Amino acid sequence: MNWHELEQRYGSGVYAQRDIPLIRGEGVRVWDAHGREYIDCVGGHGVAVLGHNHPAVVEAVHRQMQRLTICPPSFPNDVRARCMERLGTLVPGLNRVFLCNSGTEAVEGAIKFARYSTGRPKIVAAKRGFHGRTLGALSATWNRKYREPFEPLVPEFVHGTFNKLETFEALVDDRTAAVIVEVVQGEGGVHPATTAFLQGLQALVRERGALLIIDEVQTGMGRTGRLFAFQHHGIEPDIVALAKGIAGGFPMGAVLLGERVKPGVPGIHGSTFGGNPVAAAACLATLEVLERESLPQRAARLGAWFLERLRAIRHPLIRDVRGLGLMVGVELRTKVAPFLQALAQEGVLALPAGLTVIRFLPPLTITQEDLEVVAQALERALAQVSGQVSP
Ligand SMILES: *Cc1c(COP(=O)(O)O)cnc(C)c1O
Repeated sequence: MNWHELEQRYGSGVYAQRDIPLIRGEGVRVWDAHGREYIDCVGGHGVAVLGHNHPAVVEAVHRQMQRLTICPPSFPNDVRARCMERLGTLVPGLNRVFLCNSGTEAVEGAIKFARYSTGRPKIVAAKRGFHGRTLGALSATWNRKYREPFEPLVPEFVHGTFNKLETFEALVDDRTAAVIVEVVQGEGGVHPATTAFLQGLQALVRERGALLIIDEVQTGMGRTGRLFAFQHHGIEPDIVALAKGIAGGFPMGAVLLGERVKPGVPGIHGSTFGGNPVAAAACLATLEVLERESLPQRAARLGAWFLERLRAIRHPLIRDVRGLGLMVGVELRTKVAPFLQALAQEGVLALPAGLTVIRFLPPLTITQEDLEVVAQALERALAQVSGQVSP
């Protein structure tokens, strides 16, 4: 059976799929239908922070599925309550939680809470930013290719230039509900924010009565070397959007709400599946493993090593190597698609960020030995595709 063909025939057409049908995973490795093994630096787009099928998550999900699979948010639930307590005490000052099921929903929630809380309509996002694909989140997303077919989008969204505070100073006014940014722009090409930019944004929104939303959907849950990437920069965001790795592979999103955000009232927002007990159990297990195994610290240490290792590759096609923790981008002077294919041939899955950046989002449980294998695979892929060996 050709799974690729089958999905292409019955799919809606919205995905440019790679011809690698993945059917099994364990830890940092996945296997395709032909039995080929890969080190997985795609990790479900950064979801697999604990690797695939982590026993603690499998066990928690299995146990909860047998106990209670669904409990609507209109009824309290023991596991959801403990999950909310855990999420609501991770960061001082971010003590309230809205639970949902994906990154784009977390961003929608963040935008709605910001508008509701301030009574203002305007949202200032960043050029090159990515926040999801539902109409509200899409309005904050920058990429024209994603936006244009769906215009008109939600009104009152504007974009400043990432890391250029003065462009935000010109946009944030007394009609602004919030500024929303990523700490490291993921889809936009793995661009880290500077501390001065983020601290400047915080001072700016406070001065003008707006809120600061940090989208940690990709950077969160330890990926960058701290539990949340904003913690590298000494800021106190008002709203934080989470998803991807939050439940170790199980679909889940969350919005953390700070003290400057007005509490909601019944009816203004909601989600049938939000905070379902199975996702809550997976999230609790994930947080436990992250802490017990000090995975954020591990991401910091291994990420710093990996960044240096990649920077040591001298190849004329490499324009830049950048990242934070285990969120790493290699920008080429050419399109990355053939290099991603060559990497797969070498047994490494990586993903693009835009047209010219190779992005690595490995599980935080990866070893230095496996990262060395990834680096060597990249060296070979560069040599093969470009026909040029590094000097
Ligand atoms: C992936 C991503 C989203 C969207 O998450 P989905 O679960 O795909 O809806 C939003 N923001 C950022 C920063 C992301 O990386």
